[in-house]
Amino acid sequence: MLENIYNKTLDNEITPEIALDLVRSTNQFQLFDTSDNLRKTIVGEHVTYVVNKAIDITDHCIIGCKFCSFRNSENYQMTNEDIFKSIKEAKSEGATEICLFGGITKEMDINYYCDLIKEIKDNYDICLHALSPAEVFQTAKNSGITTYDALKQLHDAGMDTMTGASAEILVDSIREQICPNKLTTSEWVNIIKEAHELGILTTSTIMYGSIESWKDRIEHMFILKEIQEETHGFTEFVPMTFLGENNELGKISNGATGIEDLKVHAIARIIFGETIPNIQVSWVKLGLRMTQVALNCGANDIGGTMFEDKISTAAGGGFGGYLPVEKIKQIVTDIGRIPKERSTKYELL
Ligand code: SF4
Repeated sequence: MLENIYNKTLDNEITPEIALDLVRSTNQFQLFDTSDNLRKTIVGEHVTYVVNKAIDITDHCIIGCKFCSFRNSENYQMTNEDIFKSIKEAKSEGATEICLFGGITKEMDINYYCDLIKEIKDNYDICLHALSPAEVFQTAKNSGITTYDALKQLHDAGMDTMTGASAEILVDSIREQICPNKLTTSEWVNIIKEAHELGILTTSTIMYGSIESWKDRIEHMFILKEIQEETHGFTEFVPMTFLGENNELGKISNGATGIEDLKVHAIARIIFGETIPNIQVSWVKLGLRMTQVALNCGANDIGGTMFEDKISTAAGGGFGGYLPVEKIKQIVTDIGRIPKERSTKYELL
């Protein structure tokens, strides 16, 4: 049966029903093996990584997601000088990418972001991977402009790529329970499509393991796949497991199990096939040992060195901080694969 799945994936014939059946009823190790074989065929033996730094501008936020442990955890707001200093440090460590995002406020409007982005791009030769559809949504609202205009201005100011964060689970009945004040599924999809239309590539993400079902996860992945077939604007898919420390949702959900974590990576490889060829493991969320295993279940990218990730650390990701390139190389060569630095847009460096 799984040989059939291998061929169906390469022929782009996997349906939501087949995917659901696979995660529910198939021998999990055969599933992982099939995904690993697909990974070999589609992207080969490289495990890519990016040298980057996450800068979370503020932990003030008006949205109040129930899975969030970051909001008001330190009650801070970085000044532009703080941000420039942080970028300078990242550059001296060899970073090629800055992930710039954070909480959502009513004060941060289009002028704030565009001035900040312009100043960064005028002074530093670095890829600016910034904001998410949720931040763009509120920025447009704060500024009385459309999300398309906001994206255009951000792009013109120098924002290179956008994060695909704030997707969580793209099923509104779940969003209403875990992030009722956040933009809806269709609003998220529209902003992503607008970004792609403007030539702003984005990542795609899922936050799984709280209260959603496998059916919801698969529905989410097929929404992403449909977008990619239309726009080709996603660079990668990043599964992020729910971490339940210090947040409301953690009181009612234990999070995903290890096997579920692996199955999410495996089924993503099968659903996305060659349509979204890069599947990332978030070492910050899964830890280094599980990261090695997930790289054998369909994944081919290890993400960034991430000098800081306050968001995951606040939610109990004890693995946050900085992963030196030497450690990445050790983890990757230890499983018989080839580590390779990449740019944000997946050009090999
Ligand atoms: S997850 Fe993001 S948008 Fe939601 S409350 Fe936390 S900081 Fe705000």
